[in-house]
Amino acid sequence: MVTIVRDPAERRGAVITLLATAGIAVVVLAGWAIWKDEPPPVGVQRTIEDVEVTWRCENGHEFRAAGSMTPIECPTCGAPSDVFVHYRCPEHGELPALVRFRLDSAGRQVPDQVRLGDREWWGVTSSVQCPQCGRGVAVARDDPFTRAHGRDR
Ligand SMILES: [Zn+2]
Ligand SMILES: [Zn+2]
Repeated sequence: MVTIVRDPAERRGAVITLLATAGIAVVVLAGWAIWKDEPPPVGVQRTIEDVEVTWRCENGHEFRAAGSMTPIECPTCGAPSDVFVHYRCPEHGELPALVRFRLDSAGRQVPDQVRLGDREWWGVTSSVQCPQCGRGVAVARDDPFTRAHGRDR
């Protein structure tokens, strides 16, 4: 009869590894859910062109207009404008951001690039992170996709 006595330190290490793995999985899933949400039923999906969104031009003018996959002209100064949303970090509050879109392999409109505040544009993979703490952040309001998917909140 062999008795295996596990080293408590080793077991604690294994638990920590497990928790860390679970934590990463949660972050990845949350990031996925932020933009993908639930797939809308086939046939009723509205697109970004069907909803009114907030736009902001290079010179800081904000206006409301129908969504578009490509930048549109500012009605005040004619400069290119991008969709303007607010992400929210639980620790650092609202993060104003410009968003540009692309079609994914399934033909859905997804964020392609995000510009938080006056930072550089960067490519969006599965989620957007707070530049200060690295947490995945969700759109706090003015989420064009919530409305484009018919889930007004
Ligand atoms: Zn303008
Ligand atoms: Zn943060």
